[in-house]
Amino acid sequence: MIKEFSISTQNKHQLLNITEKIKEIVKESKVKSGLILVFTLHTSAAILLNEDEQGLKEDWFKVFEKITSGIDFSHNQNDDNGDAHIISSLIGNQKTFIIEQGELVLGTWQRIFLLELDGPRTRKVVIKII
Ligand code: ZN
Repeated sequence: MIKEFSISTQNKHQLLNITEKIKEIVKESKVKSGLILVFTLHTSAAILLNEDEQGLKEDWFKVFEKITSGIDFSHNQNDDNGDAHIISSLIGNQKTFIIEQGELVLGTWQRIFLLELDGPRTRKVVIKII
């Protein structure tokens, strides 16, 4: 089963919690035991797994700023988002999760986010369940 949804981001940098949407898709799939791949079709966005806490969400962007500041991105001669491409690949465009007893297996504080690094844009997320 494959499923796709779009999500609109409002800011240049944003973390959008998509956990409930993914849980909904797991439920609809009626798969009791399997794997789910959550994949975003972009080179300046990523899928991130962590806690949904406001301070921590701000901290992620402080870290991204720190590791990319002072770099003269060659890509920026064509498109002003070299940092977004690099962070996208460092965090990764996809994550795989376990489905057991019809439910997404996550730790107590784990949430799935779409990481926007060059918004606002409309982002696509593709889900594959096997
Ligand atoms: Zn670019």
